[in-house]
Amino acid sequence: MQIGVLALQGAFREHIMMLEAIEVTAVAVRLPEQMSDLCGLIIPGGESTAIAKLMETYGFYDAISQQHGAGMAVWGTCAGAILIAKEVLDGIGGQRSLGLMDITVRRNAFGRQKDSFVADLDINHLPGEGFRGVFIRAPWIEWVGKGVDALAKHDGAIVAARQGDLLATSFHPELTGDPRIHRYFAQEVVAS
Ligand code: GLN
Repeated sequence: MQIGVLALQGAFREHIMMLEAIEVTAVAVRLPEQMSDLCGLIIPGGESTAIAKLMETYGFYDAISQQHGAGMAVWGTCAGAILIAKEVLDGIGGQRSLGLMDITVRRNAFGRQKDSFVADLDINHLPGEGFRGVFIRAPWIEWVGKGVDALAKHDGAIVAARQGDLLATSFHPELTGDPRIHRYFAQEVVAS
């Protein structure tokens, strides 16, 4: 099983290390052609506007949509969750998303950099105790469509959701050394 991590900007190295820790072959994806053999793709946290510009430059919009249509699962963390959402609130003018997942995401909903925080989360379908969620200028998921399963909330706002082979998390599971969500993506979401 090969899972790619979009390696244009942001916390892609940490995701690669987490995948390697659970013995999944990780590919740092810098060009669309590298996605042909992937069964899953992680779009990391970082700055969604910067990632969006680079995605445009390298032709990732069509390529990710096509690969997703052909069966590649996609997980967006933080900025990545913004990029896979159908609707983005508080984006910069004309900010483009892939529009794959039937969710509305509000950018920077939990505040600015200084408002970053760590919170203990209860995440549905995850074995074991609570999960430490690291929130950095994080978005929340303001609305989910009928086919979307809300997996976790913080202060009443949805911070993790799944729709079939799509997963979105507002926080950064690659920064805590806890591989349970990476394992969930590889074993449940990719395999679905
Ligand atoms: N606020 C950032 C954005 O709009 C996301 C922050 C993050 O990914 N940690 O892209």
